[in-house]
Amino acid sequence: MSRIDEILKEMEYIAHHPAKMVMKWKSETGKKAVGIAPIHCAEEVVHAAGMLPVGLWGGQTTIMRATEYLQAFCCSVAKAIMELSAAGAYKHLDAIIFPETCDTFRVIPLMMRLADPLTPVIGLVLPDNRKIQAGIEYTANEYRTIAKKLEEITGNKVTDESLHASIELYNRHHAAMMRFFDVAAEHADVITPYWRHQVVKSSYYVLKEKHLAMVEELTAELSALPVNKGKGPRVVVTGIMTEPDNLLHLFGEFGYTFVADDLAQSSRQFRTPTPEDPDPFIRLGKRFAAFEGCSCVCDPEKLRGKIIVDMVKKQQADGVVVLIMKFCDPEEYDYPFIKQDLEAAGIPHLYLEIEQQMDSVEQLRTRLQAFSEMLMAK
Ligand code: SF4
Repeated sequence: MSRIDEILKEMEYIAHHPAKMVMKWKSETGKKAVGIAPIHCAEEVVHAAGMLPVGLWGGQTTIMRATEYLQAFCCSVAKAIMELSAAGAYKHLDAIIFPETCDTFRVIPLMMRLADPLTPVIGLVLPDNRKIQAGIEYTANEYRTIAKKLEEITGNKVTDESLHASIELYNRHHAAMMRFFDVAAEHADVITPYWRHQVVKSSYYVLKEKHLAMVEELTAELSALPVNKGKGPRVVVTGIMTEPDNLLHLFGEFGYTFVADDLAQSSRQFRTPTPEDPDPFIRLGKRFAAFEGCSCVCDPEKLRGKIIVDMVKKQQADGVVVLIMKFCDPEEYDYPFIKQDLEAAGIPHLYLEIEQQMDSVEQLRTRLQAFSEMLMAK
């Protein structure tokens, strides 16, 4: 097995065993772990408190008890998080941070407190007026409140020094992920959509120090290989996520390469560096202010389509795949603007509606195949 295979296999194991990774962390270090619901929660604060930040992105689970708490028309990510909470899957977490990023997420902290009263849920309210000074200070205060609540749980104070250090580490990790994405696009034979996702997903269940080392080594090993751009379509993919795994395998079957992404679970986490400021909480507030192109933040200028067009041009992609999570209002509201910008730039795109718990992706097979053939015929 090559070193690349070893690293990818380890990342795959991490990505598929979040609960084991949490238990391993707790038993090896005696420290605590905190769940972080997507998105914009500034997990650096958790890291600075000496705890393991654990991404809560739902998962492939059978929805049974979630319907006791949420309406049938909620998205599959919210339902999966609620199901896992009701089933006690988060009982080893010492707290959960939950942002109000959409109408569905607004109610979940309350429901989680009912379903699992023993796990503290810390709410996070993010401002719409995020770019003005008052908005930056408001966001910084929200993160300060989280730090205080974590201090009560862990007994560790989040100092300016520890938070600056965590921010620097995360800046390095985020830059390494963006570098990996560029290198992965040049090695389509090795980094298929499935393996690209394992690299991203594994970052949510181990400390960033460890993941940074793994990604840097993987990128260095890949860079030493001859360039291979693949024989299939090279696309930019946008949406919340590309799960479930069988969807990723289907992309792989038709030879797709993801040359860049605008996914909430992936590059939206990594593409905006945290700027400088003497106050580390203001740094995090400034990053939230600087963030562009996310359906979960207020963006009157609707820049997301233009950002995707720029990605297509930079990577010379053949087209764009828009993956809309069923019942996700924020993503659905963005789509008309994305479509308009792509059409104006003459970029072909495919709109697919997905769910995280799709047992079968066969209904998408014909459309992915037809789009692939259309792109390759150009
Ligand atoms: S997928 Fe959409 S609707 Fe569901 S939690 Fe995320 S932003 Fe909200």
